[in-house]
Amino acid sequence: MAVYHYDVVVIGTGPAGESAAVNAAKKGKRVGVVESYKVVGGNCTHMGTIPSKALRHAVKQIIEFNTNPMFRDIGEPRWFSFPRVLKQAEQVMAKQVQMRTNFYARNRVDVFFGHARFTDANTVLVEGARGKGDEELKADKIVIATGSSPYCPPDVDFTHPRIYNSDTILKLSHTPRTLIIYGAGVIGCEYASIFSGLGVKVDLIDTRERLLSFLDYQISDALSYHLRNNGVVIRHNEQYESVVGTDTGVVLTLKSGKKIRADAFLWCNGRTGNTADMNLEEIGLTPNSRGQLEVNEQYQTEVPHIYAAGDVIGWPSLASAAYDQGRSASSHISGSSDYRYVDEVPTGIYTIPEISSIGQSEEELTAAKIPYEVGQAFFKDTARAQITGETVGMLKLLFHRETLQLLGIHCFGDRASEIIHIGQAIMRQQGEANTIEYFIHTTFNYPTMAEAYRVAAMNGLNRISNH
Ligand SMILES: Cc1cc2nc3c(=O)[nH]c(=O)nc-3n(C[C@H](O)[C@H](O)[C@H](O)COP(=O)(O)OP(=O)(O)OC[C@H]3O[C@@H](n4cnc5c(N)ncnc54)[C@H](O)[C@@H]3O)c2cc1C
Repeated sequence: MAVYHYDVVVIGTGPAGESAAVNAAKKGKRVGVVESYKVVGGNCTHMGTIPSKALRHAVKQIIEFNTNPMFRDIGEPRWFSFPRVLKQAEQVMAKQVQMRTNFYARNRVDVFFGHARFTDANTVLVEGARGKGDEELKADKIVIATGSSPYCPPDVDFTHPRIYNSDTILKLSHTPRTLIIYGAGVIGCEYASIFSGLGVKVDLIDTRERLLSFLDYQISDALSYHLRNNGVVIRHNEQYESVVGTDTGVVLTLKSGKKIRADAFLWCNGRTGNTADMNLEEIGLTPNSRGQLEVNEQYQTEVPHIYAAGDVIGWPSLASAAYDQGRSASSHISGSSDYRYVDEVPTGIYTIPEISSIGQSEEELTAAKIPYEVGQAFFKDTARAQITGETVGMLKLLFHRETLQLLGIHCFGDRASEIIHIGQAIMRQQGEANTIEYFIHTTFNYPTMAEAYRVAAMNGLNRISNH
């Protein structure tokens, strides 16, 4: 068996693994990476972020074509199948793989394909893929960046051809007329937007009493309204009793006694860290009940020379954070000063409409007895939104009544996840630079959506002076 020696071995080539590996290589380490899938990119590229965002973009374009009267000059509204829009996503995925493969090559990082498991605390066995035999990688430091997979409860038959999870839905070869989505977290709500945008009648089953309850209440209400407006039936506080696949569809029985039938069923309820079959217990690491590993603020596990980053450590389970966590882990390994603990993470939710937020919510500020005020701007009142026709949405700024310091930014509507970063940059300023006055004392391009910050800041200041 071939044996290789590295300074750092990284397991997984998602955002966390890639950034850990490339950063370590840039800092002069010899790095080897292991990936069990046939190409690099991680679930982020193949099952999660990239395909779902590309699907959503294609669906938004279809909605635009079908609803904008200008396009009636060139044709009637058209129906597009799910496999057709999936093709768009596959093109993006292929570009991502090519680009990411080059990152490893350019930085002289060796990539090994096969399932990785530990044989001791410094040795990883790569169980041969692509007809190769097993290979052994020895390293001083190891980063576990193996990501997560959909949690699949044993009483649901995921081998049935009409029962899917968020990975297998990307193999859907037809377009159902009706779809049940079980689980109304971020992934469930995003897929509810995608399928309802394609004209599928969606039943969205929420196990909680409010959609995405971690969001500002106004924004979560707006999401419910717009999903319903697009034909989605949302059922709150429900739990499944059984999910039964038939020849023609799926029957979901809820504990409340309801029975719902649909052509297909998509399970979006929970994810599990990818830690099985890695021999972790043998080296002193015990994942929790969700398959996740605990780390300290330096991303070290209980075995200090073994680090973990990305979805495998749990919160926030976002590609955005996974990149930074992986980079931080390898900066710590390299003794570099650019290490940072990733704790301030914006929320970006690619539903239709898009949602993004950072900082505290009204509920949190009220509970903490912080005197705050609200400034809001509606997209429909900005010139840019009137031009693009993307008039659904709002920007809400929460700021301290006395210091005017920005405390929270909550936004929904077209490009909310981009718009939020303008405010984020101001929020992160030190001293008096992080107040909403910035938006009034700064000239913004016109017409832009950035203008919404000025409008919201003015609205907020008026509210204070009127009180
Ligand atoms: C439908 C969906 C939509 C999402 N949308 C967004 C979004 O819009 N924005 C956002 O920020 N996040 C989003 N996410 C979350 C994001 O995809 C994850 O947070 C991100 O992929 C985590 O990155 P990671 O590097 O930890 O792991 P992953 O991307 O999961 O990659 C882990 C890699 O490790 C490999 N691996 C696992 N075990 C082994 C082993 N034993 N040996 C070798 N290789 C192994 C896997 O094959 C995989 O390639 C979404 C997720 C889903 C499911």
